[in-house]
Amino acid sequence: MEGHRGARDRPRVERLVRTLPCRSCGVRIGFIELASGKKMPVDPELCMDFVTDDTGPPRVTLVSEKGEMLTGKQASVTTPGSYRIEGYVSHFSTCTDPKKWRRDG
Ligand SMILES: [Zn+2]
Repeated sequence: MEGHRGARDRPRVERLVRTLPCRSCGVRIGFIELASGKKMPVDPELCMDFVTDDTGPPRVTLVSEKGEMLTGKQASVTTPGSYRIEGYVSHFSTCTDPKKWRRDG
């Protein structure tokens, strides 16, 4: 019965140690350290999605708390071969003013 219907069922979990206001849009964002050592800005809500290993679009990418990139083709719980991924959405894809991020590299 747990359909995926967007923001409404996203559990609000504040596990990230620290959140800061985004320099561009002002919403609170968290930072996850990637394996490379870079800090990636993410929305501070843990998200869950269902994906398959197909290579086609639409793509879903989440970042786990360990800094792993979890990616796959968007699916649903009823899609054959789908599995659940859990992680955070990159703030680059949700920021209302992402252009400002580019300026700082
Ligand atoms: Zn922003």
